[in-house]
Amino acid sequence: MIDFHDTIDTIKRHLADGSDRSLTYAALECRLAIERICYDRLARAHDYISHEEVRRWQPHLVIKLLTEDVDPHVASTYTLSISTQPAVEGEDLTKKDYVPVGTQQGFNGARLAKLWNALSNTALHVSLPKSSDVGVTQFGSAGAIRTKVEQALIELERIATGTMTSNGFGPGVSFTCECGQLVKRRSEQLSAGKVVHCINPACNESYEVEIEGDNINFGVRAVYLTCKCGEERRFPKAPLDKMRVNEIARSHCSCGAETIFCWKLFSAVRDPDATKRVT
Ligand SMILES: [Zn+2]
Ligand SMILES: [Zn+2]
Repeated sequence: MIDFHDTIDTIKRHLADGSDRSLTYAALECRLAIERICYDRLARAHDYISHEEVRRWQPHLVIKLLTEDVDPHVASTYTLSISTQPAVEGEDLTKKDYVPVGTQQGFNGARLAKLWNALSNTALHVSLPKSSDVGVTQFGSAGAIRTKVEQALIELERIATGTMTSNGFGPGVSFTCECGQLVKRRSEQLSAGKVVHCINPACNESYEVEIEGDNINFGVRAVYLTCKCGEERRFPKAPLDKMRVNEIARSHCSCGAETIFCWKLFSAVRDPDATKRVT
C-alpha cells in the first residue's frame, strides 16, 4: 500500500499557503500521486504482464490495460476476507466465520484521467499567448488550480483509506520461457492469437497463445534461418516486429557470415477475373 500521509499533508500545506507558487506545487503533488496510484497497481500486476506489453504510459491507459489483461477488478473497491477455520469439503461456505484481510479502494479510471489532465492544463504549463498583446504569466489561474487540487485531494484521501491492493484472483496458467523465467498469465484474460511477452525485462522472447479445448499453449515466436555454413540460427520475433520500415538489423554467425533483416513494402496486382471465379 502506498503511504499518502506525506503527499496529503504537503498538498494541504500548499493550499493553506495559497500563493500562486504553492498552488502550482500542490497541483504537481496531486498529479504525481495519481501516477503513483496507477503505477503501483501495475507494479503488483507485473507477475502477470511484461513491461514490453505496456505500450502507453498514461496512468489511465495503464489501468485500462491491466483491466483487460490481468485483473478486471484492478480499479474496483472490495474487501478480502479469510475464514477463521479451514474449509471442509461439502461445507456451506457462506455459514463460516470470516475476518477481513483488507480493503482495496477502487477508482474511476476515466475520472482520474480527466483530473490528471486538468491539473496539468491549469497549473503545469504556461499558457500559450494567442496574440502580441497577451502577457505571458508565471503561473496559471489560482482559482482554477485550487478547484482542481481540492477535487484531487478528496479523491486521494478516499483512496488513501484502502488497506491493501491486490493483483487479482482467478485461474492462472504458466510456462517457462526460453530464458528460464517462469511466466504466469491469468487464463480468463487470454485469447487465441494473443501475443504475450516474457516478464523478464532483459528477455526478447514472445509467445502466441494457442487454445485447444481446455488447453492453453504458448507457441514461441521466432524466425529460423540456415546460415551458409549449415548452422540453423534462431532469432526471437519480438525485436524484428519493432524494426521500422527500411531499418537494417545485422547478426553475425560464428562462421563470420552476416544475416541481415529489413522490412520492405510489397505490393501485388490482383486479377479481377480471378476474383470473380473465387466468389
Ligand atoms: Zn524470457
Ligand atoms: Zn554461419
